[in-house]
Amino acid sequence: MPLHEAMLYEKQKDNKVKCNLCARRCLISDGATGFCMVRKNEGGTLYSLVYAKAVSAGVDPISKKPLSHFNPGAQVMSIATAGCNFRCQFCDNWMISQDREVPGRLFPPAEVVKAAEARKCQGISYTYTEPTIFMEYAYDIAKLAHQVGLFNTFVTNGYMTPEAVKTIAPYLDAATVDFKAGGDPDFYKSVSAVPSVEPIYEALKELKLNGVHIEITNLVVPKIGDSMDRIKKMATWIKDYLGKDTPFHLLRFHPDYKMTTASATSIEILERAYMIAKNAGLNYVYLGNVGGHPAESTYCPNCNELVIKRYNFEITKWNLTKDMHCPVCGREIPIKGKLHTGGGAFPYALF
Ligand code: SF4
Repeated sequence: MPLHEAMLYEKQKDNKVKCNLCARRCLISDGATGFCMVRKNEGGTLYSLVYAKAVSAGVDPISKKPLSHFNPGAQVMSIATAGCNFRCQFCDNWMISQDREVPGRLFPPAEVVKAAEARKCQGISYTYTEPTIFMEYAYDIAKLAHQVGLFNTFVTNGYMTPEAVKTIAPYLDAATVDFKAGGDPDFYKSVSAVPSVEPIYEALKELKLNGVHIEITNLVVPKIGDSMDRIKKMATWIKDYLGKDTPFHLLRFHPDYKMTTASATSIEILERAYMIAKNAGLNYVYLGNVGGHPAESTYCPNCNELVIKRYNFEITKWNLTKDMHCPVCGREIPIKGKLHTGGGAFPYALF
């Protein structure tokens, strides 16, 4: 596979390069790779090692991202390459995100778009691993996807530079930005090897400024990342900077990778977090990874009418008017795009 020159880097002295794609801004010596393992300096030029080299592809319901207020019921072609700029010890995709071998198979951008159309997807989602680190590939797919009327969504840890956000924003329709432990800087340092959380907030402001639909998730990790004070602060920040209608998903933690002895988050803790986020002023708070819980569904913030009933990734009842208003009190429910029906209910993998 030919190497593909990277975007957003600067040449430095002694054949070094500085990568400006994610907030690590790695200074990379000749012959070395960046922290994400998939961007290599060869002779003073930075290359992506994963361009058109997908490690995973599949068809998912959009609710799996999760995106609850964006084209509900849509199917998306999910795509990932190897690599990541975080080192989360609980990563449930660690086999592909932390693999030093850079595996994958040739899947050029035009083929990805064709595959999405052939499977009747309405969009493409860059997900499973961190899309920032395969920006060149995502960018070329996203551009082609827009040409044929497909939307694009990122599932991201948000650790992007403002330059990276500005680069992809013209083709990015929605982003799910994943926080962990209420954004606790100590948790990020010790569990995910991330030196500072601040760039995530800056990237979020930039996404908002560029008109990208945003939904936030927060992984509630028992004992080491379940501070209610942090959840309150995060919910307040979301309300103040992104708006009170921003969907906020509180996700249940499951033991994985290097944290298999930790326990799953209790429903009681999740419900407490849910109430705190609601009381902080957010209109649309959800619980995730808790199939069948009432907090998977959408309620009218005005009269509390159940307007979208969900079970796991499926919409089991749609109770909104055609123009997305509550049928009881008439309040507008902010849903971007439209309801898509007839899609496959279950995810399936291409490879
Ligand atoms: S994308 Fe990779 S190489 Fe670039 S700054 Fe981030 S971790 Fe470093």
